Amino acid sequence: MKSFNYKALPINVHFGRGRFKEVKEILKEYQFSSVLIITTAGQAAQGQKLAEQLGHICVGVHAKAIMHVPVAIAEEAIHEVQRLKVDCCLALGGGSTIGLAKAIALKTSIPIVAVPTTYAGSEMTAVYGLTENRVKTTGKDLKVLPKVVIYDPELSLRLPAKISACSGMNAMAHAVEALYAQDKNPIITMMALDAIRALKDALPVIVEDTQNIEAREKATYGAWLAGICLGSVGMAIHHKICHTLGGTYNLPHAEAHAISLAYSVHYNRNADIEAMTQLACALGGTDHQQVGHLIYQLNQKLNIPMALKDIGLPEDGPQTVTRIVCDSPYYNPRAYEYAELEQLMQRAYMGLPPN
Ligand code: NAD
Repeated sequence: MKSFNYKALPINVHFGRGRFKEVKEILKEYQFSSVLIITTAGQAAQGQKLAEQLGHICVGVHAKAIMHVPVAIAEEAIHEVQRLKVDCCLALGGGSTIGLAKAIALKTSIPIVAVPTTYAGSEMTAVYGLTENRVKTTGKDLKVLPKVVIYDPELSLRLPAKISACSGMNAMAHAVEALYAQDKNPIITMMALDAIRALKDALPVIVEDTQNIEAREKATYGAWLAGICLGSVGMAIHHKICHTLGGTYNLPHAEAHAISLAYSVHYNRNADIEAMTQLACALGGTDHQQVGHLIYQLNQKLNIPMALKDIGLPEDGPQTVTRIVCDSPYYNPRAYEYAELEQLMQRAYMGLPPN
């Protein structure tokens, strides 16, 4: 066995159906008495309901989170927490909501209690992002790491089938890239494989029946493990491609991940054969050469958009993305080869199978 480093992040996790009802008790345990609920406009009613449940320890609902945390939105929220003398931000929502709570924490050190309602995994990482003038800056700071995370699969029952599928594949991407990370280790590999199996089994069931609570539970479990992977080891070519698609073209985060994953793993299929064979087996196959196809077929089963052109990538996007990816690469187990990568990005643009 190769030598490795492993470090766990200090987050208290409460997982299970109906655990949402324990939020007030948990907040009191930590002696929080001035809690601001952060959420999106679309989840404002859910936030309001939670505020009623919390009673006097809740000082308001700030339902202004939007994707990629624009600096102006963060500044407004920081002003609000200072005005209300908030001692805890309770983030109820997906990556956008948790992202806003992280921006507040970065500036004020106000602790976060996260109640995730998508599968994006931000709650398990110390990574934050802020966007200004269409440029997203990311960084890492333990100040933004949630103190407590409450996973209640019942909260995802309202997540529409399409968002569930794409968000679930976004989680899958974190676990997949952990398998061939530069700093991979046996604990994270174990978690990544369990995450991939759970998501592969649960997502097709959810797409057929969004109310299937067993499948929701399995997907939430998979997303949690995938989030740990994302927070623990470095990501590679796939995350570089998706950060470029999001940063340069503002493509929707989860969809961009879901579509691109088949092509990223196909590109890496011979780079780390042990990892890719493990991936193929976790997806129900046997051969590392198949990995791109296995993800592509799973996407077809999930009825998610298959082509980058259908989610807003312009015609010259594949060349531009390939150039940016090759000019400022992340670590990857295989060297960046412009011509092959551009060809794959063209296939992703059209939604064709990876080869
Ligand atoms: P999101 O948070 O924007 O949510 C997508 C939409 O779904 C929103 O309109 C939201 O209101 C709605 N929604 C969420 N949960 C719902 C539910 N249970 N029922 C009904 N509607 C619901 O999307 P996301 O994909 O979760 O997050 C994307 C953002 O998170 C991006 O900005 C991305 O960069 C960031 N992110 C950051 C990290 C990190 O480690 N820092 C990790 C993953 C994602």
